Amino acid sequence: MKIILLGPPGAGKGTQAKLISEKYVIPHISTGDIFRKNISEKTPLGIEAKRYIDNGQLVPDEVTIGIVKDRLSMDDCENGFLLDGFPRTAMQADALDSFLNDNGQKINTALLIDVPKEFILERMTGRRVCPSCGASYHIKFNPPKVEMKCDICNNSLIQRKDDTESTVKERLDVYDKQTQPLIQYYKDQNNLSVVNGTGEINEVFGDICNILGAVK
Ligand code: ADP
Ligand code: AMP
Repeated sequence: MKIILLGPPGAGKGTQAKLISEKYVIPHISTGDIFRKNISEKTPLGIEAKRYIDNGQLVPDEVTIGIVKDRLSMDDCENGFLLDGFPRTAMQADALDSFLNDNGQKINTALLIDVPKEFILERMTGRRVCPSCGASYHIKFNPPKVEMKCDICNNSLIQRKDDTESTVKERLDVYDKQTQPLIQYYKDQNNLSVVNGTGEINEVFGDICNILGAVK
């Protein structure tokens, strides 16, 4: 199964991606996670990406597309993958289509997690993440078992720098201008599925499984 997850920042893509990749045994490829790992390791890529990410801007297409192509060329993607946070621009979507086409592949579906704007600010400002394993929690909707400790690796949770109110607003603007048009792009390809992302995490996951079960 080759899946793209679409949706505004804070829609629940990372949360659902983890559940989907476990169930379907496919790698979860999050460009945001790749950038954050590089930032924490202070690689040249991380140093460049940080300038954009901290301001709520997108990392340039040339950089991001190269990273995704390299990742999709790895052996574990042969039987499928789940892209979370990519593509985010028309150029990225075109590059992905060409890359897959050149390799005789295509995606099974672009799954939009549909969450209206009024839910987003609370979801993102309440998000806490594990800097070690990347697990994501919410102080109200998905709290860890022990306050501010990761359930998986027991590390202290942190708030992402780009989850402050002003950066969230900038990211939503960027989403509207650059990423939202991709919904029509995949609709035109007859490849769009939509799930209502406003319910509880397990409810959304159940709906996603029903959708993916029907996808060819
Ligand atoms: P994205 O990857 O789309 O930016 P996340 O999966 O990190 O979004 O979710 C954003 C925040 O909202 C996290 O704190 C997460 O725990 C929380 N969250 C995710 N799904 C739901 C949901 N269905 N209901 C309430 N909160 C949710
Ligand atoms: P995310 O973890 O998906 O919320 O991404 C965090 C940040 O990483 C975004 O706000 C962007 O700055 C950057 N980023 C992630 N994916 C992409 C992408 N496909 N294109 C450009 N920038 C990206």
